[in-house]
Amino acid sequence: MSLKPRIALLSVFVSAGLLVAPAAQAAETRAATVDPRPSTAKLAFELHKLAALSHGKIRVDKIGRSNEGRPVWAARVGHGKTRIQYVTQQHGDEPLGTPAALEFLREVGVGNSAWARKLLAKVTVDIVVRANPDGHERDWRYNYDPDATPEYGEKGKGYDINRYHDPAVAPKDNPATEAGLIQRRNAAFKPDIMVDYHMQGRYQDASGKEITASTLWPTNPGVKPSDVDFAKQIAVVVQRSIDGNGGYVSQYPGGSYQGIARNGYGLLGNGSVLIELSLIPEREQQQIQDARASMLAIARAAADGSVRTVDPADADAIPPRGPALPGTVEEAHEAA
Ligand SMILES: [Zn+2]
Repeated sequence: MSLKPRIALLSVFVSAGLLVAPAAQAAETRAATVDPRPSTAKLAFELHKLAALSHGKIRVDKIGRSNEGRPVWAARVGHGKTRIQYVTQQHGDEPLGTPAALEFLREVGVGNSAWARKLLAKVTVDIVVRANPDGHERDWRYNYDPDATPEYGEKGKGYDINRYHDPAVAPKDNPATEAGLIQRRNAAFKPDIMVDYHMQGRYQDASGKEITASTLWPTNPGVKPSDVDFAKQIAVVVQRSIDGNGGYVSQYPGGSYQGIARNGYGLLGNGSVLIELSLIPEREQQQIQDARASMLAIARAAADGSVRTVDPADADAIPPRGPALPGTVEEAHEAA
């Protein structure tokens, strides 16, 4: 990056009220080499490299194949009682949760620090890394199923994977192949916590300050109130971690449909949370680091039990998402 874009970048942060804290700046510098969109072949290579460097602490599995035969990978780290599942990139054109997962695995699984050993004794973290490799390949939202006439999706393209997590639909009957893979992995793992990483456009709060991410808990009326409360506690941990890393989290204005992962896994009793990273080109590396920070914060708060001490009402105080940033396009449909 030459000097000129750096100055432009700084002025964007200043005008958006996003003066970055020194720690976040350090994280941004450290993250300069993170590939935001690794190919699926490179992703497989990186996962196996991390597994080797971790001396067995990180286990990598192929959980199935996409419609076009690409492997869908999952990585697992830790051996503790509390189970956490992260899912990234159900929508192929929402990539940044995927490199964040690699950075999280590196941070907790490679090396032998005392804090990581302690963490991995308390939690087991399972990550479906890039649920939608065919959509990634085309840089589009859907899976690849051009002959389908999907209720949720687009004819000629494929299914919207994140509308096919209705617990009433068995994985073997799931028309969206990759959603069925996530359902199976979730059912076998039985996580306490499930967090689904997406991306959204650019939005501001009521005062015009740009938000960098949004979060939400299950909003389907069938989800047990105690499970909604637990998801709200997780959402507050998400807010504090991302805000503390230099970002700014709002609530996400999401719907109640039971096929959305946030609702579907909430109905199954997971503490189920959505995270949407805003698509801010000049903040891409920091967005990856914010997502990584949220993965680590959730794991730590689950490990030490502090997530259960959060007041769920604090989630209702997370600011609502306001209008699209001037000059950017409001998403026509719910993006999650
Ligand atoms: Zn999405």
